[in-house]
Amino acid sequence: MIRLLRVILLLLIGIALAVILFKLRTPESTPQTRSEALGELNDLSTPERRLLEPGEDFSPLGKPKAYEWLAIVPEPGQSWHKFAKSGFPWPESGRHTLYLQPFGEFPPDRSPPLEALRAWTEAWFMLPAKLLPPLDVTSASLTNRINGSATQYLTRDIVDQAVRGMPQDGYLLLVVTMHDLYPDSGWNFVFGEAHLAKRVGVFSFARYHPSFYGEKHVANLASSGTADVTNLILRRSCAVLAHEAGHLFGMAHCIYYCCLMNGSNSLYESDSRPMHECPICLRKLQTAIGFDGRARYRALRELCRSYGFTKEVAWLDSRLDHIGPQ
Ligand SMILES: [Zn+2]
Ligand SMILES: [Zn+2]
Repeated sequence: MIRLLRVILLLLIGIALAVILFKLRTPESTPQTRSEALGELNDLSTPERRLLEPGEDFSPLGKPKAYEWLAIVPEPGQSWHKFAKSGFPWPESGRHTLYLQPFGEFPPDRSPPLEALRAWTEAWFMLPAKLLPPLDVTSASLTNRINGSATQYLTRDIVDQAVRGMPQDGYLLLVVTMHDLYPDSGWNFVFGEAHLAKRVGVFSFARYHPSFYGEKHVANLASSGTADVTNLILRRSCAVLAHEAGHLFGMAHCIYYCCLMNGSNSLYESDSRPMHECPICLRKLQTAIGFDGRARYRALRELCRSYGFTKEVAWLDSRLDHIGPQ
């Protein structure tokens, strides 16, 4: 009798696990799931429709490799329709400025220029972006520790301090730093952390410079032709700002196309993400902000030219051709 009960119990646990795992599985990206996630475009004006038509400029997301984000973290996906109905508190008149606030020094030889990050944030979201004076930590004691050769700061303390300084017209506040970060004592480090309810995030660029991983790594990069480290750090920093701030607008990770909003499990995976959103994520951002998509692509193309992001300039040229001149 006890043996029978054990078998029944194991069976029930097995069924429950199967249901949970099935529910947690990331849906496959197929023409049908992508089209459903994008939603109907027929009611849009011709330029709006052309802005969101996938055309040839986007690659569907394939099956993840064993070490990639989606192989480890199942994601249900977020359709445009679900996003539009989410009731998320998007920017409104009087509360639509995006603030960047440095924490600590930004040594010019290994840091992205703050003004370049501000201009990128403004062009990406088509909202005013401003730099705040550096986070004042003289009156606050931020928890920190030594890990290897780096001093690391506890993300929670920085977020708590930043929230107090959020200006009245601020939609979000992004603290940027060249210090290394950790979220709690159980973690080795973290690239950053975003708090949706507070609309505040803190992001470290400390690990974006190859010298963080040692001089041998810098030499390897130089010999592989990736010698322009300044361009690499700026590209990585702009990409992480756009991705993380995207979360603060209520956008979930993208599971449909190769897209800036794809989750990432490593610097290698983040580097392989494109510097643009897919049509589904673009439609979400446009719904949240209400920008002119063509004007946005033109502004981004100007910046990409001046930042030396040549691959992105070519992509934007192609996309603007697809949308057409009007
Ligand atoms: Zn993310
Ligand atoms: Zn996407």
